[in-house]
Amino acid sequence: MKSKWYKKLHWQIIIGLILGLFWGLLAGALGMADFTSDYIRPVGTIFIDLLKVIAVPLVLASLVVGVSSLNDITRLSKMGGKTVAIYMVTTMFAITIGLTVVNIMQPGATLPEETRASLMESYGENVEGRDVDAGVLQERTFMEFFVDIVPENFFEAAGDNSNMLQIVFVAILLGIGIVNIPAQKGAPLVNFFESLNDVIIKIVDLIMKTAPYGVFALMAAVIVDLTGDDLGQAVVLLRALGWYCLAVIIGLILHVLIVYSTLFKLFSKMKLRDFFKAIQPAVLLGFSTSSSLATLPVTMERVEKNLGVNEEVSSFVLPVGATINMDGTSLYQAIAAVFIAQALGMDLSLAQQLTIVLTATAASIGTAGVPGAGIIMLVIVLQAVQVPIEGIALILGVDRILDMARTAVNVTGDAAVSVAVASTENMLGNLHFDDDE
Ligand code: ASP
Repeated sequence: MKSKWYKKLHWQIIIGLILGLFWGLLAGALGMADFTSDYIRPVGTIFIDLLKVIAVPLVLASLVVGVSSLNDITRLSKMGGKTVAIYMVTTMFAITIGLTVVNIMQPGATLPEETRASLMESYGENVEGRDVDAGVLQERTFMEFFVDIVPENFFEAAGDNSNMLQIVFVAILLGIGIVNIPAQKGAPLVNFFESLNDVIIKIVDLIMKTAPYGVFALMAAVIVDLTGDDLGQAVVLLRALGWYCLAVIIGLILHVLIVYSTLFKLFSKMKLRDFFKAIQPAVLLGFSTSSSLATLPVTMERVEKNLGVNEEVSSFVLPVGATINMDGTSLYQAIAAVFIAQALGMDLSLAQQLTIVLTATAASIGTAGVPGAGIIMLVIVLQAVQVPIEGIALILGVDRILDMARTAVNVTGDAAVSVAVASTENMLGNLHFDDDE
């Protein structure tokens, strides 16, 4: 029997999203912004925290199960090389698309002087704060990136969700250890992780049932943050920055349409439409949580259950992707850098734009999969092309919305690459759509 459309989870999430949007606007107009911040926002925070709390055990369990089932460890290193290579290539394409769109649309040229000045004034302090964060990040050398992947202490690594690569590392080590002892001795540990894995997948299912409410609360909070009690001000600002946002959105859409559909053509027979139908809840969740890491459990579930990617592939490709692969973020960083330069009346040479390709690739690798990380790393891109970082003040006001859009693309990119890798490894099964979808 076919159930009613509004009973389907993805519709409920969309309805939650739209209602949250309306509530956010209404709250501003009715002077209920504080109520929304105090009582509705926490519901969203709880929802995100629920997802985050299972991220580390999920990655650990599914990767140990994945690696220990590989009878051939060379396969893992082959898959690893392939994964990172495809991630890098898609990221560079994303930046190139971003640069093309922003150079054609020239959104920076349309920004009114007044808005620029007032935004600069109101966000100046925030920018200084963020500059310090980026300063710390910037001091890391290339080799330190690798040093950081190896944790000193397992529990410390597991104690911080932003250390996902360290967890990936430990899980691979454990898996390799298990493969290299007699099967009989390794069995209890494998059984333990298999059972943990199943339990967590069940928990993801349960948490997702509350997604419509969580998404409602998150959306309402975002809109209230943007508008406060002054709807008029928000409208003026949003209109002024509309072109810039439009450039980012167009870039993101082009990237999905061109790069991912080419990826599918090259590596599998999957259609973009079916792909999206299968992973929709993960994309919507990326959109509403602005965090690829928080979305990871759902991305893994959809990719395995609905896209048919074997767990051996997904348990490796997805956690790594949620940490280092940020197509949406890199595209956004390219557009934002050029937009700020344009708004400040600076012309970027071809060499400078090429520098953007390299630094935005590096910056997006270093960007953590949490809300707002992309704009912090933007500082590195701006400094590389000598654009004043204070210019970030111009775009800070709309960043929350763009963060949502770029995170949705980041999540999509991870899932798309897992399909490509699975297909080349002969580990891609059939698409599966649930009855209630
Ligand atoms: N929020 C993004 C993510 O989690 C990162 C960013 O800020 O661009 O993927």
